[in-house]
Amino acid sequence: MININMNLETQFKQTLTKIKLNKKDKTLVALSGGKDSTTVAYLLKKFGYKIEGFHIDLGMGSYSEKCLEAVRKLCKQLNIKLHLYDIKDEMGSSMCYIRSAIQTEAKGKGLKNCAICGVIKKWIMNKEARKLKATKIATGHNLDDEAQTFFMNMLKGSPQLSANSGAITRNVKDKKFVTRIKPLFYIAENDIRTFSQKMKLPVVYEHCPCAIDSYRIQVRQFMNTLSTKEKENIMKNFDKIFPLIQRLKKEEKLNYCEICGEPSRNKICRMCQLVKVGK
Ligand code: SF4
Ligand SMILES: [Zn+2]
Repeated sequence: MININMNLETQFKQTLTKIKLNKKDKTLVALSGGKDSTTVAYLLKKFGYKIEGFHIDLGMGSYSEKCLEAVRKLCKQLNIKLHLYDIKDEMGSSMCYIRSAIQTEAKGKGLKNCAICGVIKKWIMNKEARKLKATKIATGHNLDDEAQTFFMNMLKGSPQLSANSGAITRNVKDKKFVTRIKPLFYIAENDIRTFSQKMKLPVVYEHCPCAIDSYRIQVRQFMNTLSTKEKENIMKNFDKIFPLIQRLKKEEKLNYCEICGEPSRNKICRMCQLVKVGK
């Protein structure tokens, strides 16, 4: 178990050691323009890892424009290559439009904005990372995000939903699946905010206008009343009970989606199921 009482850079490096990130790995950093992914790119570059940036322009008006500007600035500062994926060009509509189309259909009703957006972004990332021959995808998920998700899964009575969680994707090995890493897994959101401000990194600090998930917001509000130590304890407990959680999870075989050919646990992947609903 990682000792979390260290400074941010030491925690970051220790997580990289734990997940065995290799300097030969080609890591694509999923840059959103926010403080977390920006910090991931900054530190991976600082510690000499081979990285390139990847940004999905979701076409969400001025918010997306600001994010794109911040990402361009960062990649220029770090002198790293930036790959852009414009969702309007590639998929014909903005994320807002795709999402509402899905939500207006009976099968898509009740699906949260971030749940839909998350599935679509993961699908794009894996496909594009494979095309770019990346060996890892790094995301900006932090201790608060992970503690919230773990806690929500516990409240839902489905701890097994956390079975693939961790600083590196577990339980998934497939030649078409690019391993995802979360170097900020053990680092608190407040520390990342302070760090990015101190380093004057180009970051969009405002929240995404589409992040409206009342359940997650309620859980987040509750968790914001906890101290960092308590949040760290949640994740320490997660690490402790992880072997049990894994036992709760049924053995799953990875297939390839019958429509798009991407790795999937079902015959049709989540992305194709959603997009079919939204058509
Ligand atoms: S906050 Fe939610 S809707 Fe906004 S970009 Fe992230 S996942 Fe998508
Ligand atoms: Zn599919």
